Amino acid sequence: MAGNERDAFQRIRTQEIQIMQFENTLAFAKKIDKNDPLRSFRKEFYIPKINGKESIYLCGNSLGLQPRSVEKHVMTEIEDWRKYGVEGHLHARNPWLYYHHLFTKPLCDLTGAKKNEVVCMNNLTVNLNLMMVTFYRPKSRKTKIVIEGSAFPSDYYAVEQQIRFHGLDPKKNIIELLPRKGEVTLRTEDIIATLEKHKDEIALVLLGAVNYYSGQFFDIKKISKACQKNDLTLGLDLAHAIGNVELKLHDWKVDFATWCSYKYLNSGPGAVSGVFIHDKYAKRPDLPRFAGWWGNDEKTRFKMEKHFVPKEGAAGWQMSNAPIMNMAAHKASLELFEKAGFENLLAKSKLLTGYLDWLLRSQLSITNCQLSIITPSSPSERGCQISLQTQKDGRKIFDRLTKACVIADWREPDVIRVAPVPLYNSFEDVWQFAQLLSA
Ligand SMILES: *Cc1c(COP(=O)(O)O)cnc(C)c1O
Repeated sequence: MAGNERDAFQRIRTQEIQIMQFENTLAFAKKIDKNDPLRSFRKEFYIPKINGKESIYLCGNSLGLQPRSVEKHVMTEIEDWRKYGVEGHLHARNPWLYYHHLFTKPLCDLTGAKKNEVVCMNNLTVNLNLMMVTFYRPKSRKTKIVIEGSAFPSDYYAVEQQIRFHGLDPKKNIIELLPRKGEVTLRTEDIIATLEKHKDEIALVLLGAVNYYSGQFFDIKKISKACQKNDLTLGLDLAHAIGNVELKLHDWKVDFATWCSYKYLNSGPGAVSGVFIHDKYAKRPDLPRFAGWWGNDEKTRFKMEKHFVPKEGAAGWQMSNAPIMNMAAHKASLELFEKAGFENLLAKSKLLTGYLDWLLRSQLSITNCQLSIITPSSPSERGCQISLQTQKDGRKIFDRLTKACVIADWREPDVIRVAPVPLYNSFEDVWQFAQLLSA
């Protein structure tokens, strides 16, 4: 980043601290947009239109927008496949044999991982299952999995079936983390108390680092510390965390994590997933896992010999060769993250969501609109998403927003989720949304 952009960021950070300076006017929103050093990134994306009018897209938590550069990156691979056929594995501009290596650095930057701790492969729920093959090993009394009561259904299904796969009863082997009566989010001290109380029965703790429903970002550092103290394995689903909040998976000593890349990582519907496996398992070929040739040591992979020799690190969990077309979109998108700098995106995100939160809480008296915010108000306990719980006529409010060109997300029975994304959303988007909501 150029020096003058850095200065601009310094100013943005200062504004963040002086949150009281926010103003509820279009002129103010436009002014911050104008001073936003990341404003040019919006032009790198296609913003969907409704009836010819640019929408207010607040659904990046569900499906990120398409970077304009995706087409070029996918075309590169289509051309090289046309030109080289099988030889593209070695001779394509980005040789397919090593294509997944392109993601190592950007994924390390986003997750706080070391080089051999990440690999890009498969899809999220597939990887969640693969990780449980290795890290959910029920033994004697330690058979249970701890999971959020409001976990994403796919994660819950995977957990139930893994338990059954080991011949155990899911009804007796899932410990759900539930909020206190009258509360929506979980308290760290309650999570830790549950872990300590049941430590002799727990085989795995599996958490969505950012809960998809409430938008709550758990205190992973503290939770991981409690896991280590009690000798518990901690796995994370980062679907709503990666590209959205700061992660330090290596330093926090998280055992494993997995994510998808079509939400905040803007890599397209069903786009490739990735996994993190802590360094401490890098040289453990003995760990049980499912295998395929791509996880085999590269030196012997093409000798086509019998007997699996896993590569060191997370790469040793790969099975199939890389889906290049799908990964080309991922490549385009991660280049934008690298160009913007994740730190900068986080600074803007805090400000952008801070503005939304401020408008909703202090300007709209949302209680009059029959709405309450269920996402924590502290910026350290959330990413960019804010979840609004409606008291009545929720679906009507949502439909009204849709008519007004807002693309947001409705979760049964009564929650509207909105996520201003720092790469492509503007302060004006946020201001317009707030006006529409209170109209
Ligand atoms: C989006 C999401 C999924 C989706 O899983 P896929 O395998 O990519 O279809 C799973 N878990 C969580 C927590 C999610 O947010």
